[in-house]
Amino acid sequence: MNKPDLLPATRSFLAKPAKMLIGGQWRAAAAGETLPSIDPATGEVIADFPAGSATDADEAVRAARQAFPAWKRITPYDRGRLLQKVAALIEKHGDELAELITLENGKPLWEAKKEVGTAVSWTEYYAGWTTKLTGETIPLSLPGQFLNYTTREPLGVVAGITPPNYPLTMPLYKAMPALATGNAVIIKPSEDTSLVALRLGELIAEAGLPDGVFNVLTGLGEAVGAALANHNDVDKITFTGSTEVGRALVRASAGNLKKVSLELGGKSPNIVFADADLEAALKGVFMGIFFCQGEICSAGSRLFVERGIYDDFVAGLADMARSVKLGHGLDPSTKMGPLVSQAQQQRVLGYVGIGTDEKANLLAGGKAPGGSLAKGFFVEPTVFSGVTNQMRIAQEEIFGPVVCAIPFDDLSDAVAKGNDSPFGLAAGIWTRDIRKAHQAAAALEAGTVWVNCYNAFDNASPWGGFKQSGWGREKGPYGLDLFTQVKSVIINFS
Ligand code: NAD
Repeated sequence: MNKPDLLPATRSFLAKPAKMLIGGQWRAAAAGETLPSIDPATGEVIADFPAGSATDADEAVRAARQAFPAWKRITPYDRGRLLQKVAALIEKHGDELAELITLENGKPLWEAKKEVGTAVSWTEYYAGWTTKLTGETIPLSLPGQFLNYTTREPLGVVAGITPPNYPLTMPLYKAMPALATGNAVIIKPSEDTSLVALRLGELIAEAGLPDGVFNVLTGLGEAVGAALANHNDVDKITFTGSTEVGRALVRASAGNLKKVSLELGGKSPNIVFADADLEAALKGVFMGIFFCQGEICSAGSRLFVERGIYDDFVAGLADMARSVKLGHGLDPSTKMGPLVSQAQQQRVLGYVGIGTDEKANLLAGGKAPGGSLAKGFFVEPTVFSGVTNQMRIAQEEIFGPVVCAIPFDDLSDAVAKGNDSPFGLAAGIWTRDIRKAHQAAAALEAGTVWVNCYNAFDNASPWGGFKQSGWGREKGPYGLDLFTQVKSVIINFS
């Protein structure tokens, strides 16, 4: 397998012992334990990082609580300037960050570079909001003279728990709106991609954020993640991950009734009508499921194709899937990398077995490749046809490069099948008929509906799920609501 040399900056970061950032200090876990970070393309250990415990979580919460009052009071302009510095440092170290993302997550370097670009623009976007957080004046009907105004106040200590599919942007999706609105933040990154979060912590410290305002706590979800979720001095949990863990966090939050927002799983329908621009639809469907190895919450993993074009369209998709070059993400010829972990690879292969047992037709992929890729956690891009919406492979989130193709007869059939899911994160529609597009967009139960595009994301556009895909909306001004509480002040001046 082709794997070029690492940049000197990446090598020197990996050569140092990885430490957690707590209260402005770089620390090993209190118990001295570590976990390995593994290159999923080779199965080799990249470096070890601290395996924190409830004791470390306590320390991080104490540090964040101490830092909060001053951070809340710093002027919006100064807060914005500091966050702009974070954006500039991410941009400056973009090549190195992209390399680390590829090493830990497996995605090809070109995808990792896109992620860095999003990280920069996202950070700039919320840095710009610090000076624009206003309240309202509200006319009251009480007898006498009153002034009622509202202010938006930070919540306090915010803990962000994140998954491994976007190792850099996920921690920033949580941290930036929370910091911009004056909260102190603790990030608990995925145990599969903790090094990227620790490097981000270095850059945030370099930008000059006061000690304790931003902390990175690494370790297992059941250990540090659960400790934060149960902690009585954490005011808010902001989580992206599986629906199952989301449920556990809701239960854990009951102790101090901390606020919770959740970005969870999906099983998104991508619906292709016979009147669509089929060339564009095929490319969109392909990217919709295979981008980021299919490890993306919005993956268009249920493909609904109008019956008259079903066979040809699905055969075209299977041809494209077979032509994908798998490899190490740092090899420039690689089109798709490995899954993030061996556990995830085994889970995906398990679902391929379930699909075959359910008598779905395996048209492409379905295996872990051998040869020079055998030690990595690869799964070939996989296309199932002859799927019914009741099969487990059509109902459960696989979180990998597996698409289930299902025929439909007309718009109402497509919408009924599309909505027949416990999830409601996103949906895609491909048609040239504007009436059909609007009717389907109105009827689909999803937080985001894309028409003649898929996975089109923008920092300003709200993101979140219907049904069991989540609570709350991130991005844009909606994202500010997740980290602020409204205070109403009523003054009697009669
Ligand atoms: P996961 O739920 O297993 O883990 C996510 C995070 O939760 C990790 O940091 C993990 O350590 C932590 N965690 C695990 N158990 C915990 C516990 N008991 N208490 C506290 N924290 C705990 O998810 P994953 O496999 O890492 O990520 C894939 C999932 O994330 C998929 O379901 C995917 O759809 C979802 N996701 C959703 C979005 C979205 O925007 N809706 C985006 C990306 C990923």
